[in-house]
Parts: sequence; structure tokens; C-alpha cells
Amino acid sequence: MFNVAIDGPSGAGKSSVSKEAAKRLGFIHVDTGALYRSLAYAAMKNDVDINDEISLKKMLNMTKISIEFKDGTQNVFVNQENVNDKIRTEQVSKAASDISKIPMIRAFLLDLQRDLANENNVVMDGRDIGSVVLPNADVKIFITASPEQRAERRYKELLAKGEKVVYNDILEKLVYRDHQDTHREIAPLKPCENAVIIDTSELDFSQSVNAVLDTIREKYKQ
Ligand code: C5P
Repeated sequence: MFNVAIDGPSGAGKSSVSKEAAKRLGFIHVDTGALYRSLAYAAMKNDVDINDEISLKKMLNMTKISIEFKDGTQNVFVNQENVNDKIRTEQVSKAASDISKIPMIRAFLLDLQRDLANENNVVMDGRDIGSVVLPNADVKIFITASPEQRAERRYKELLAKGEKVVYNDILEKLVYRDHQDTHREIAPLKPCENAVIIDTSELDFSQSVNAVLDTIREKYKQ
């Protein structure tokens, strides 16, 4: 199987670019952030205090996360519930960043991610894919952009959805999440030594997709 690992901070366009690149290559796209979001959603829904190890363990024992792919789109299920439409709120974003610091949570999701990569050609995106989940990936890419650019994109996305948002609030939350994701003890976000770094600050969507595809094709042909 051919495995592409794409890591980077939130809002750099990682998931949408990975999804399009996977589609063009005929690979599946695995958005691992959605898995952390799903567990954060489950904890919120069941009123589980994520700092209470026993309650969290209990929740994990009763939780099955599964993924189905339909027309190139990943659908995540918590037990039988499709949570795709419920995990994109700002509240779940913050909770996902909080819960993803916990080793038990990261261990819980590891096999699921590795099994998908063992059984499929994948473009998998996240924070620790090249470093922890798929250290032997065929291609490793780190997609980034300036915090201001990322906040601006998120701001426009939310405005287009009709949400009332303030740019500075978004920037502040993004900087907070970046700090939390890069400074945690376990699997902190950072480019791997052998990752190709793509900065999308000055690139539009199709230029970003092409930059990723060029990088992948260089290796895929070999
Ligand atoms: O990519 P996304 O913004 O959906 O991820 C939500 C949160 O999940 C991130 O802020 C990060 O803390 C966590 N995450 C992670 N490892 C991954 C993917 C996401 O810790 N591989």
C-alpha cells in the first residue's frame, strides 16, 4: 500500500487539500482530526470529565469508533451514530484539542488509523501521522500557513455559514490550539525530519493541491 502522511496546524487547508489530492490519486482520505473530535463529542454528550481517568476509561470501553467512505467522503460513527455534522463546532474543536493530550485517547485511536493504512492506499492527515502513526509512510508532508492567514480563512468560512464571528476571537483560539498542540508531551505537532514543508500562505486551493500532488507523484512514480 502507498501511504501519504500529511501533518500541520489547524486551518492550513490540510484536510480539504488532502481530500482533493486523494480523490485525484484514487486513494482514500483519512481525516484523523475527526476521530479526536468524535471522542471529544462523545465525552461532551455523556458528560464525562476527561480529567477523570476512570470515567474516561469507562467511556472508551463502551465506545466503538468506525469509519465509512462514501463518494470520497469519510463518515465517522460513534457506536451507531454518524457524527460528521456534529463535530465541526468551535466547542468541539477546543474539546478535541484538550482530549488529544491524553495518552489513553491517542492509544485508543492508533490501531484504527494503522489498520486503514495497511489495507488501503491513503492520504492521512493529522498532527502526528508522519512521526507516530505511520513512521514508514512513503511520503511525508507538512502543510502550514501563517496564523493570520489561517484565522482569516476560518473567519470567512464561518461567515459564509451565516455564523456571527469576530476575527480576533478566531485568531486567539487558533493560537491557543497551536500552542496546546505543539507543546503537549505526547505526539506534539512538529514537522518530521524528512517531511516536505508546504507553506500555503500565498497559495490558493488549487495551487496547494498541485503542490501536494507534485510532491506525492515524485515518489509514487518511483
Ligand atoms: O485537524 P482538526 O482540527 O480537526 O483536529 C482537531 C484536534 O485534534 C487538533 O487540535 C489536535 O489537538 C487533535 N489531533 C491530534 N492528532 C491528530 C489529529 C488531530 O492530536 N492526528
